[in-house]
Amino acid sequence: MPAANDASAMPAESAESAEWMRRLQAAGLRRTLTTRAVVGVFLARADQGLTHAQVFAALQARGHEVNRVTIYRLLDRLVAAGVLSRRTDDARTWRFALLGGGPVARGARAGTAPRFECLSCHREFVLEATGSAARAAERELLRAVARLGHAGERADLTVRGRCADCRTQHPPAQE
Ligand SMILES: [Zn+2]
Repeated sequence: MPAANDASAMPAESAESAEWMRRLQAAGLRRTLTTRAVVGVFLARADQGLTHAQVFAALQARGHEVNRVTIYRLLDRLVAAGVLSRRTDDARTWRFALLGGGPVARGARAGTAPRFECLSCHREFVLEATGSAARAAERELLRAVARLGHAGERADLTVRGRCADCRTQHPPAQE
């Protein structure tokens, strides 16, 4: 097998992963083993925003010998390259996520199923069941944006509040 294209040399690489490798290349990033491993972590857990620590732990769990500082720098580079998004959650921890792509954004869902961020336990997850409501809201929002002369492509919704688990464990005080 020719070794000229290292992405094609990965036998079990999915089309989705290949797409991300193309993005990395377009962004001028070398597709090192570590970079591929990090993208793999996000592809496997694309319904969640991941912290530095979670990415590091996931890489270790997959048997990658990685340096914590290397991962920190790589995440920053992936943000600078537009591959990952970064924002702080309510606990002021940086959370990283694949930007516009991956399983969450694939196909009919098109990235519009909203994320839910729990203000109590700080979990993040995608609310698939509200996808159609979110798409309707997104269309409305993009129309409003178009009326202002802008060409919006997508809107990412995040709902913040208390998740069902936290509401069960700590029900609001009776009035
Ligand atoms: Zn919660």
